[in-house]
Amino acid sequence: MTVVSLGMPAVQTPDLRDFTLPELTEWITGLGETPYRARQLYRWLWRRRVEAFREMTDLPITCRQNLETRARLGTVTVVAVQSSQDGTRKLLLELPDGERIEAVLIPEARRLTACISTQAGCAMECRFCLTASMGLHRNLRASEIAGQLVALGNTLAAGGHITHIVLMGMGEPLANYAATEKALRILIAREGVGFSPRRITVSTVGLVPGIRRLARSGLGVNLAVSLSATTDELRDHLVPINRWYPLGELLQACRDFPLPPRRRMTFEYVLMAGVNDHTEDARRLVKLLRGIRCKVNLIPLNESPEIPFRRPSRQRTESFQGVLERAGYIATIRESRGEDISAACGMLVTAERPLDTITSTPYNRRCGVEQFGSSLGS
Ligand code: SAH
Repeated sequence: MTVVSLGMPAVQTPDLRDFTLPELTEWITGLGETPYRARQLYRWLWRRRVEAFREMTDLPITCRQNLETRARLGTVTVVAVQSSQDGTRKLLLELPDGERIEAVLIPEARRLTACISTQAGCAMECRFCLTASMGLHRNLRASEIAGQLVALGNTLAAGGHITHIVLMGMGEPLANYAATEKALRILIAREGVGFSPRRITVSTVGLVPGIRRLARSGLGVNLAVSLSATTDELRDHLVPINRWYPLGELLQACRDFPLPPRRRMTFEYVLMAGVNDHTEDARRLVKLLRGIRCKVNLIPLNESPEIPFRRPSRQRTESFQGVLERAGYIATIRESRGEDISAACGMLVTAERPLDTITSTPYNRRCGVEQFGSSLGS
């Protein structure tokens, strides 16, 4: 990072990847450059994904020199890549201050989904999630959230491109609301990555004020809510934030969430044997979701020695799904991806371990994400 020190307190120069296009335009015109330069610069940052001002060859040399002294480009660096037998790749990423996070690339038939993080660690303490065991290290900046797309994009072979983004990596996106919203604006801007909001999904543990803010933002991204229990008693236990935002309030916020025609919100439900996988649970879920245009994504628990729950049998999972389907819901069973590299849902954890243990520890604590997917058949 560039620090200007003239015998005065050090002033950190701005990271240009923290700016939306209007902010970049304002900043650069303040330096005496034209607004056109902001659009050029934005393309270099987000479309061509360069890492240094000197690579921005259509900017005049004087402009590049000006930028060198007054700004910086924070970089999200790929430290390690693990590839799963199913094609899923988990990336260990390092942020400018040395903090580490994980992101996952999930290839499917006609899509390539990037699962990215919004926090290093997480403060939500869900009992069945391994990331929770890290606690919260810190929030990510907008540049670090959106910058994961740059880092992931630069690992792809020529012609490869990311088609979908899910904010389902480490952390709770709505607990880091401002940076998350800004990162989404950056990714959606046509002059940059130009990602369609329809192909972006924000997943939340159920922070009601955040859901309402996202609704007001007008961003038009998809919402997924990790429900995982149908009574406040059980949810208070599994997902402690439920004590602040109980089911009634949460589902009301979901009912109020604006959905464009033909779009549905998603409810994720992590199935745990003997805990929340009974027929009664499925029936209560049907009642709770009545009137919400939604689909249900059932995620059989990804097990870990640190997690005190077990995955239900396939039969139980399918009979849970059957109750939902007979009530008219679309209910898919999430095919677990990247399990062999601990890239599956709720498995993302970065810990202070030497790098060479990453590939050799079965349930290593560096992992992290989750996925996604379609229907039965794994
Ligand atoms: N904090 C957000 C974003 C994380 S997404 C959220 O809670 O939605 C991670 C997803 O993986 C969530 O749906 C979570 O419920 C799920 N998950 C967590 N631990 C899991 C585990 N052990 N097995 C399967 N899914 C898990």
